[in-house]
Amino acid sequence: MTVELNDLGDHELETLRIVLRREQLQRSGERWHDCLVCEVRFVGRADATFCSGRCRTAAYRRRKAQRE
Ligand SMILES: [Zn+2]
Repeated sequence: MTVELNDLGDHELETLRIVLRREQLQRSGERWHDCLVCEVRFVGRADATFCSGRCRTAAYRRRKAQRE
């Protein structure tokens, strides 16, 4: 496949960038998620649910608080 990058406009370049990023994510087994705590979008493993250890801890504390 040959792509003449010089012929592409800014919008086409941007589209290409997104497509490539998505392909990379698929190959690495990662994808976009919404964090269950702060609802931020992040890239992580297929089974990831939190954007950071901090949110994971927050969710754990919240669950614990509900139980008690
Ligand atoms: Zn979060």
